[in-house]
Formats: sequence, C-alpha cells, structure tokens
Amino acid sequence: MTNTKTASNVPVRTRFAPSPTGYLHLGGARTALYSWAYAKHYAKVNNDSTKGTFVLRIEDTDVERSTPEAVQAILEGMNWLGLIADEGPFYQMQHITRYQSVIAQMLLEGTAYPCYSTAAEVEVMRELARMNGDKPRYDGTWRPELGKTLPSIPSAIAPVIRFKTPQEGAVIWDDLVKGIIKIANSELDDFIIARAVTPEAAAKGDTMGVPTYNFCVVVDDWDMNITHVIRGDDHINNTPRQINVLKALKATLPQYGHLPMILGADGEKLSKRHGAVSVIQYDTLGYLPQAMLNYLARLGWSHGDVELFTTDELITWFDGSNLSKSAAQWDNKKLNWVNAHYIKQASIEQIAAWLLRHQGIVVTHQLKSAIMLMRDRAETLLQLADLIAPFINAPIMTDALREQYIIPNQLILTHFLQALTQLSENTWNKNNIATIVKSTLEQYSLKMPQLAIPVRVALFATPQTPSLDAMLTVLGRNETLNRLNINLNTVLNSI
Ligand code: GLU
Repeated sequence: MTNTKTASNVPVRTRFAPSPTGYLHLGGARTALYSWAYAKHYAKVNNDSTKGTFVLRIEDTDVERSTPEAVQAILEGMNWLGLIADEGPFYQMQHITRYQSVIAQMLLEGTAYPCYSTAAEVEVMRELARMNGDKPRYDGTWRPELGKTLPSIPSAIAPVIRFKTPQEGAVIWDDLVKGIIKIANSELDDFIIARAVTPEAAAKGDTMGVPTYNFCVVVDDWDMNITHVIRGDDHINNTPRQINVLKALKATLPQYGHLPMILGADGEKLSKRHGAVSVIQYDTLGYLPQAMLNYLARLGWSHGDVELFTTDELITWFDGSNLSKSAAQWDNKKLNWVNAHYIKQASIEQIAAWLLRHQGIVVTHQLKSAIMLMRDRAETLLQLADLIAPFINAPIMTDALREQYIIPNQLILTHFLQALTQLSENTWNKNNIATIVKSTLEQYSLKMPQLAIPVRVALFATPQTPSLDAMLTVLGRNETLNRLNINLNTVLNSI
C-alpha cells in the first residue's frame, strides 16, 4: 500500500464480502487473508482486540446465483486457513428492509429518484450514446432538476430507483494499494439502486424492489463501520459509485485498497487450466493451511526478502505497507517449496489427522517414526503418504527391479540377511544395524551402494531411501527379514 495513514490507535474494521456463487477461489482467499491480517495487525500492536475487527459478510442478494452450498464452501475454505471472523457471517438478504428504508429516505431527500423508463427504452438511450461516440448510459429522462418538467408517470410500469449522481466534479480517493485514483462524475451515470418491484411482491404490498449490489455494499459498509475496504481491483469501477452514495448519505468514507489479480505462470487469468482453483482443493492435494497462508500472503505482499514466516509474524508485519501494485503470478514450484518447509515443521498430530482424513491411514507408533524419517522428502502430504506406504504394505516388486537389483546381488543379500538374524527383537536398533551394515561392507569389500541399493530394492522396491540403518529400524525386524527372505526365495524358485 502506498499509504499507511492508519493511526495505530484508531480501531480498524475490515470485512470480507464474498458472493456465495461458488467455492472460495485463490484470489478471494487472498483478499480475505489480507483483510483479516490487517485487522489482526492493529489489534496486536495495540494489545487490544477491539482495535482490529474482521467482519464476514455474505453478499447473497443475487438470489438466482447464490447457494447455501457456496456459503458452506466459503466458510470451509476460511476455516481451513484459520481466517475466523470476529463478527458475522452477516447475510445481506437479511438486511433488505434496512436498504429499502435508506432508499426511502434518499427519495425524500432527493438524492435518488424513481425512473419509469423501460429496459427497451434504456437500450435505445445507450445505443444513441454509442452512436454519438459517448459511453452507453441512461440519459436522465426521469432525473428531477430544478425547473425541469418530468414526463407524466405511466401507470402500468413499476419504477426502478436510480441514484442521482453529481454531474460536476470528480471522485478522488487515495487507494491503499494503487495511490491516487480520480474518476470524473461525468463518467458515471445515474445507476439503479433498487430494482422494480415484481408483480408478486407488489401483490404482497411491497412498493420497492430488491436493492442492487452497489447499494447494499455501501449501506453495509456504513452500518458495520468498516474503515478499510480491501478487495480485488475488479471492483475499482464500483468504488466511485459507492463513494458518491456514501457522500449522499453523509457517511464517513472508508479507505479503499484494490488488490491486483493473481495470474497463472503463463500470465493469463488464473483458471482451472492452471491446476486447482478452489483453496480447499489444496487441502485434498496435501498442502498444509499454514503453507497456503504463507504462500498466499507473499503473493502480492512482501516483508523485505523474507519468504517464510509464521502467522504471528505476518500479523506483526502486515501494516498495510509493501503491497504490490502489479499482478502476482501463481508459482506451483514455490508453493511446493513453502509446503515442504511446513511439512518438516508440522506436528505429527496434524500430519496424522490429514493422513486419516484423506487417505484413511491410521498412524501407528511405527508410522510416526516413518513420517519423521520420510517427511524431509515430501513436498505434499500426498507424497508423504506414498513415501510411508512401503512401511504399511510390502511394495510390489517388478520383474525389471528384480532382474536389475536382486538377481545379480543374491549372495550379498543372503549374507546380509544372515548377519541381521543375529539381532533379536530387543537388540534391533539403529546402532546395531549400522554395525552390521559396516561389518558386511568390510567382510565382502563392498562400497555402501553395492549393499544399500539391492537391500533398498528388496525391502522398499526403490533404490533411493534415507540411510539403511534408519529405514530398517523403522521397518522392524520381522518385516525386514520376511521381505528379504521372500525376495531371495522368489529368485531361487524362479531359477
Ligand atoms: N461481493 C463482491 C464479490 O464477491 C465483493 C464486494 C466487495 O468486496 O465490496 O466480488
């Protein structure tokens, strides 16, 4: 953000205001995260939770496209990331009478007016403007002016309500992200703030239709005392309209910050083509919420060149400065790197909970050790599940592996197996196994890979694993000896 005007002792109130028409996509998740972190920052620096409040508002007035499933998906995504609202969720559909009463007051004050032009008539006005090289717009037929005579009211038409946009001057705001933005009022038309009442609603006695998106946002931001509106820059065109309405209502203006969008690595708008687009899908794919939070936060914001930070550090640093003005690019490689870092640090309980929930794996004492041993190699928890799978079930040995690694090394494997049988269940530990590995190498003048690779293949069906002594310790005596035996017997039987 270009501006850090927020005095640290003034209460900050931010909001996330999703329309529940789909899942929580990555851009929405980042907007929610920034709004949340900004509020939490001011609560933290003041050591007073009332100094930073994060509000969740569900903008469900588009009744055809809004669904309860989408509300659930959004809440689920936010919960997963730990973005818990201090207030809400509030639902706009529950505030309709409030919006309508504000409009009724505006009609009385003359800042809004009924418009009886039909949709077809407005289309003609727009076409005429286009033909004259102007922006398509409503021509103000029903706009009341001093000394102007309005057409006579057609009885069969239910009017929409339009906002009386000032015709002179400009709307100027100091955008928290983009700096000064100025839009001339002549660019804006008298937009609709309430739709026409439907015949069914009129039959029930309603006199006004459902208010429109741009209006509901304004009333809610005002009623909820929102001080900072942080949202995607696809809303920049709405902002001058909303500011004009707020001014007409004599409301205090919030500060606006418009975040540039997130692009795919190819510079195109992020879409399914680039992989997962819903934040919660990343849970299924094996990303930790703390990794996602870190990655999303860094995607359009920086704190020096720090790439990895805790949520607490994010809150400490996220004061509204250092937000990027240019679009951010999604980078799966970097996300994987961040996730690998958090997998190394995660508690076993968190990893175990994920493995149970997504893979049905019950993490035993042995599997805990396997996780500790393998987690440095995993970029996702899905990969970690694959890495610990050989500790759960003996992996399938392919003919190719058998021919390349087992058959030529039968003797070595047999000697190693015999040496290992000297260890009992009680003496089966890393040190003793290391001693046996060492003595086998010495006895047969072998280099480590000459022994380690065939053993790894025989036990885990892969030539690459962490050190033999560690792997065998975790696999356990019985399973190690069994697998070696089975592989050697299979080879003997096939000769
Ligand atoms: N409901 C709008 C959306 O989902 C956001 C409105 C706002 O943040 O002002 O795009």
